[in-house]
Amino acid sequence: MSGRPPAEGENDLEFFRDIGIQELYLTKTSTAVPALVPGTMRDLPGLAQFLAGCPRCKLASTRTNIVFGQGNSHAELMFVGEAPGRDEDEQGLAFVGRAGQLLTKIIEAIGRTRDDVYIANVLKCRPPNNRNPERDEVQTCKPFLDEQIRLIAPRVIVTLGTFAAQALLETDEPISRMRGQWRSARGVRVMPTFHPAFLLRSPDRKKDVWEDMKLVRDYLATTRG
Ligand code: URA
Repeated sequence: MSGRPPAEGENDLEFFRDIGIQELYLTKTSTAVPALVPGTMRDLPGLAQFLAGCPRCKLASTRTNIVFGQGNSHAELMFVGEAPGRDEDEQGLAFVGRAGQLLTKIIEAIGRTRDDVYIANVLKCRPPNNRNPERDEVQTCKPFLDEQIRLIAPRVIVTLGTFAAQALLETDEPISRMRGQWRSARGVRVMPTFHPAFLLRSPDRKKDVWEDMKLVRDYLATTRG
């Protein structure tokens, strides 16, 4: 007998050997992360809880906070961006950096406040150095956005930028062709428009976003929920 303490399970194995058992069949205890079953979450806090500590993609190892999204859980108007940036990752809130401040102005320009609407992203975790989201990350994370849309049941979704429009509408059309045109996803009207971060670089395109937002404002004002 060696002087070291037995390793975990070693005594059991010795016992089995001593009684003549030569083969053992082990059942693996599942440590798999539960998959989101669409349509099963009761409310947004329950969904956020389900997502807490998410290890489902590689962004889990570089993020600071999961950015679930925030706002009115019964909003008739929802905004969907791409992914959290540095400020959002630090604070755990969507669109709180410079692009977020411009988004606030866009929302207020149509007579709403951030508290009236719901704001979320396709990806809930920041890609390192704000690189573009990768296909596997979208595939893993998008069901959470889909479930948010189901629970909020907005009348209109405004997608911000190429990436959100392409992910939600499952297309690879360029944003320049989609913006300003009503589309539909998951039974909800979708208005693709430019991303506020793009507007910070190209302020001359703000007038296009204003045209798109007027369509949204007028649709919500002239139809009933
Ligand atoms: N850009 C996005 O797409 N989302 C954010 O939350 C912030 C910046």
